[in-house]
Amino acid sequence: MGTKGKEIVGVDVKKLLEMLNKALADEWLAYYQYWIGAKVATGPTRGFVTAELEEHAGDELRHAGMLVERIMVLGGTPILTPDDWNKLTNCGYDTPSDPHVKKILQQNVKGEQCAISVYSKLLDFVKDKDFITEKMVQEILADEVEHEDDLQTILEDMSNK
Ligand code: FE
Ligand code: FE
Ligand code: MG
Repeated sequence: MGTKGKEIVGVDVKKLLEMLNKALADEWLAYYQYWIGAKVATGPTRGFVTAELEEHAGDELRHAGMLVERIMVLGGTPILTPDDWNKLTNCGYDTPSDPHVKKILQQNVKGEQCAISVYSKLLDFVKDKDFITEKMVQEILADEVEHEDDLQTILEDMSNK
């Protein structure tokens, strides 16, 4: 990072890079969980649900890209091997072994709730101390909040039928 750019970051950069890489591991696992979930999902309104899952998969992949960009500007090294996804993840991975849409949606709600707490903590960490990361985390957090709401709305609609 440029010298002046570095000067305005008022947090422990090593700690921040660790947190960003852990979030990157989460995003990749979330991406795959949505992506494969959309492939294997079965049951009522399958087509409608998979379209939403695919859209969310795309968002998680975009989040991964945002994190990598920020990690690089901060002078860090983003996760270079898939081995580190499971080692560094906060939220883990829920295998969609039961492909019923309802089960898949519930697993993804759990993932979103974990993502919301991860990004809330990150936001607390950088708030008023690293404006660039703060803005990025706010953007991602807003997406995760929307994701949770989308999935819970679909689940509610299902149980009202
Ligand atoms: Fe995400
Ligand atoms: Fe999400
Ligand atoms: Mg959505």
